[in-house]
Amino acid sequence: MSTANTRDDWESLANSLDIEGRAFIDGEYCDARGGKTFECRSPIDNRLLIDVAACDAADADTAVISARAAFESGVWSRKAPAERKRVMIRFAELIEAHREELALLESLDMGKPIRDALSVDIPNAARAIRWSGEAVDKIYDELAPVPHNEIGMITREPVGVVVAIVPWNFPLLMASWKLGPALAAGNSVILKPSEKSPLTAVRVAALALEAGIPPGVLNVLPGFGHDVGAALALHMDVDTLVFTGSTNVAKQLMVYAGQSNMKRVWLEAGGKSPNIVFADAPDLKAAAEVAASAIAFNQGEVCTAGSRLLVEASIKDTFIDLVADALKAWRPGHPLDPATRVGAIVDEGQLERVLEYIETGKQEGASLRLGGRRVDAESGGYYVEPTLFDGVTNAMRIAQEEIFGPVLSVITFNDMDEAVKIANDSDYGLAAAVWTSDISKAHRTAKALRTGMVWINHYDGGDMTAPFGGYKQSGNGRDKSLHAFEKYTEVKATWIAL
Ligand code: NAD
Repeated sequence: MSTANTRDDWESLANSLDIEGRAFIDGEYCDARGGKTFECRSPIDNRLLIDVAACDAADADTAVISARAAFESGVWSRKAPAERKRVMIRFAELIEAHREELALLESLDMGKPIRDALSVDIPNAARAIRWSGEAVDKIYDELAPVPHNEIGMITREPVGVVVAIVPWNFPLLMASWKLGPALAAGNSVILKPSEKSPLTAVRVAALALEAGIPPGVLNVLPGFGHDVGAALALHMDVDTLVFTGSTNVAKQLMVYAGQSNMKRVWLEAGGKSPNIVFADAPDLKAAAEVAASAIAFNQGEVCTAGSRLLVEASIKDTFIDLVADALKAWRPGHPLDPATRVGAIVDEGQLERVLEYIETGKQEGASLRLGGRRVDAESGGYYVEPTLFDGVTNAMRIAQEEIFGPVLSVITFNDMDEAVKIANDSDYGLAAAVWTSDISKAHRTAKALRTGMVWINHYDGGDMTAPFGGYKQSGNGRDKSLHAFEKYTEVKATWIAL
């Protein structure tokens, strides 16, 4: 149960928060070695939250030395899996015990509604840590089918020092999808949160230590991507780099790996996901409500946002009316009001980007059906109306480029083949949804889609039990599920002659 029930309750909790903005290296909070900081402001109303350590290459070196020493010492890497499990579960419990504080930090820092931070981000972050911890003493190694007088062991070992670079849209949750399996597998981790949302990453470092994760095993370096992020990605003593963020930065990280030590690079990048509605969808009103939430939830700042709504031509007019109605329930409001479903856009730059795409859509000839404006500018915060474009063609920029805001493009199709062709005509391949009552058509469409995830009569389903990630320029590797452990372990073959 939450102790805060109103916006005033949350505001008074916010006023009493003791926010930490320093880096966390070798089990202790510390300033950036160069002494630099950057302002962390809230997109809710531009209030200054705290000055945060702006780490750079010198801090990256210190953190890598600490992480490597912890790894080599075996204090965590050689702990029995059941012991690591116990600590990970304790870490998850501490995240849950601090759920209000963490949810509030998330909402203040990046503008998401407190109700989502409290019901989605923080519980799922704790679940990712717990699930990975619980899994780690149930994963067995293999024996190869070798001749009688030999033994062929196939074992998995932690990779060593892992750098995790994460985005701002689900700050602690994206971090936890990495921290869970990376730590559970016995690695040392350096977490680099987005400069737009560093606060929960910095805070949970102390909870990890309290849970029993030894100093050096988890270091957190806030700072800018081109600075400390690049230094970590280019570092010669980092074994694996895991990333969630934009496709452009993902490509750059592959270059950095090639320019340095060929560290393994695992990327979860952007998306432009098609939500395909056939005329025989089981319940058009329900499908329309889900289509609205698929673009408005988290202000549309979701990698799997259903930003291309592909609708069969025969139902387009009816369906778009239903979607427009459903979107009216998604009005931007104050993120600390527990009734608010759409909060603030993360910062002024992202707000401008969203508004520019709305202008682009108009100029490209799409027809603006709903929304399209900045609202509540007098608050000092960054709010934009959920926006619906009709008459979009898949060649338009608003259909091809990831906007990362609440802007929905409606594209029509005439049959399954055309729907699949449009859906796959994208640089991205993260997720897709299919709405139909015809089970055969559902399966045929799902098989033809070049995406890492497909939802049938549903959107954004899944939990820790299923892998998450994309095809094409949406990335490689998978977060969540046992598949995630593949990123955090090396495979060793050991042959024994008897
Ligand atoms: P971003 O790529 O701008 O930044 C992500 C992280 O990379 C940040 O921590 C940033 O500081 C760092 N970074 C930036 N430049 C860097 C550099 N040169 N070297 C090293 N690090 C650098 O992305 P964002 O704006 O924070 O997040 C939005 C993006 O994340 C969207 O494209 C979205 O689709 C994607 N995303 C993907 C998933 C997924 O699982 N596929 C999930 C959430 C978000």
